[in-house]
Amino acid sequence: MDGPAWCGASSGTGWQSPDYTVIPVSAPPTRRPHLLIVEDDEEIVGIIRRYFTAQGFDVSAAANGVAMREEIDKHMIDVILLDLGLPGEDGFTLTRYLREQWKGAIIIVTGRGESIDRVVGLELGADDYVTKPFDLRELLARVRSVLRRSVDAASAANGADALQFAGFHLNRAARELTDAQGKRVPLTTGEFDLLCIFLAHANRVLSRDELMNSLHGRDAGPFDRSIDVQVGRLRRKLESDPEQPALIKSVRGAGYMLAVRATRA
Ligand code: CA
Repeated sequence: MDGPAWCGASSGTGWQSPDYTVIPVSAPPTRRPHLLIVEDDEEIVGIIRRYFTAQGFDVSAAANGVAMREEIDKHMIDVILLDLGLPGEDGFTLTRYLREQWKGAIIIVTGRGESIDRVVGLELGADDYVTKPFDLRELLARVRSVLRRSVDAASAANGADALQFAGFHLNRAARELTDAQGKRVPLTTGEFDLLCIFLAHANRVLSRDELMNSLHGRDAGPFDRSIDVQVGRLRRKLESDPEQPALIKSVRGAGYMLAVRATRA
């Protein structure tokens, strides 16, 4: 069997090798994305805050540039939603400042029809823009899109990799799986490692012993159901009907097979 280089082992490593390592256990834990709203209109802040909190984000707010700098120092912000019309320093000044000082994603918020503002904002280094009044779902899609791009850029910078399969997106460096709607699928370390093994050998039947060896460095005993339990848990998180699994198939008397086409993302 080919060495599943994608899953963290060096290529050419034998499948049964006892020192086979699937994924380094020191990988960073996943966390909620953190949105910072820079906006002086409290009503708008409240609406965005409620919506994004319900969507699984941590949300902070700042009414001006001074407060914005404090929030950036205090928290690990992933994306800033930046209103251009602010008292004191305006959004352009802050965009320029952020691009020199800060690595996260910036989405600027412009008034209706102010197309020159969009152009200037993007030229100053904003990642995207939305126009007031905006639809919250549209805003969410934009935020997720810039977040995905910055994760991809970080992965590329680390020489790490990502895969798409069956509508899911798996980021190995972040140890994060997201579904077709961009929603994170929480996986335990064991479930994530098991999924990686399946992906590295998509459309091949893997015996319980092969899976057990890869995960724990030992064969499955005759009464050992731990692989079956883990497969069951993974199915409940991936399959639309876990009772009729379409992705992780049971192959009678042989083991399990992940029946998907996985492509590099
Ligand atoms: Ca404003």
